[in-house]
Amino acid sequence: MSDHTITVRSIDEITHDVRRYRCTKPDGYSFTPGQATELALDREGWRDEKRPFTFTSLPDDDVLEFTIKSYPDHDGVTEQIGHAEAGDRFLIGDAWGAIEDNGPGTFIAGGAGVTPFIAILRARHAAGDLDGCHLIFSNLTERDIILRDEFEAMPGLRTTFLVTEQPDSPLAADLLDRDALERLIDGVDRPFYVCGPPAMVDDISDALQQMGADPDGITFEK
Ligand SMILES: Cc1cc2nc3c(=O)[nH]c(=O)nc-3n(C[C@H](O)[C@H](O)[C@H](O)COP(=O)(O)OP(=O)(O)OC[C@H]3O[C@@H](n4cnc5c(N)ncnc54)[C@H](O)[C@@H]3O)c2cc1C
Repeated sequence: MSDHTITVRSIDEITHDVRRYRCTKPDGYSFTPGQATELALDREGWRDEKRPFTFTSLPDDDVLEFTIKSYPDHDGVTEQIGHAEAGDRFLIGDAWGAIEDNGPGTFIAGGAGVTPFIAILRARHAAGDLDGCHLIFSNLTERDIILRDEFEAMPGLRTTFLVTEQPDSPLAADLLDRDALERLIDGVDRPFYVCGPPAMVDDISDALQQMGADPDGITFEK
């Protein structure tokens, strides 16, 4: 893996625990929407602590953007990244990842698992090509939903937001099981993209296959 040093240019608050980091982009650096890289803080004691994060900018943008959820209860990389400031440096490797755009379909995300879909749906939005795309995005509570306004403003994208731990919300819902998916999805003949906590991804992949979805048509990452 070749390491690249990038510098944080700006940081924006996206939710109470998610921030957007816009960084310099190394010359010639390339990736496809949905891909991730190993990222570490370029700081004493942290350079070997690499964690995977997904690019949420588009390949042709002149910055690299990451959208990162911090877990402040735990002294890990994301807690440190949550204290990063403009001018700090990150180390990144090359781009890799299982998720790529295989055509319009149903994108099912849990929490920060939405990040590969941010890039893919932004690329489709830029191309005016969102017809037939449906984002189903489950979170604990409404305040955890990443970029809801942006997704809702994308013409052609159908959105379904669900929350599992806020019973007073109009979005309140149970976990995504087969019954719920049958209510939400029009058919199983188009690609599915699933990304979120491992248990959620396993349950949804099983449910989709029981519903008749072609396993080769399900792209997932945990
Ligand atoms: C391909 C891929 C792409 C990803 N892209 C993104 C992205 O774009 N944005 C994003 O926000 N995340 C993304 N993730 C998830 C991200 O990599 C993890 O959140 C990150 O690795 C956590 O690092 P950490 O050092 O903070 O926690 P780690 O030490 O690696 O711990 C991992 C998880 O365990 C939990 N945990 C561990 N120990 C404790 C403890 N003592 N107390 C409480 N909780 C604990 C934490 O909740 C944490 O999520 C991606 C993951 C993968 C596999």
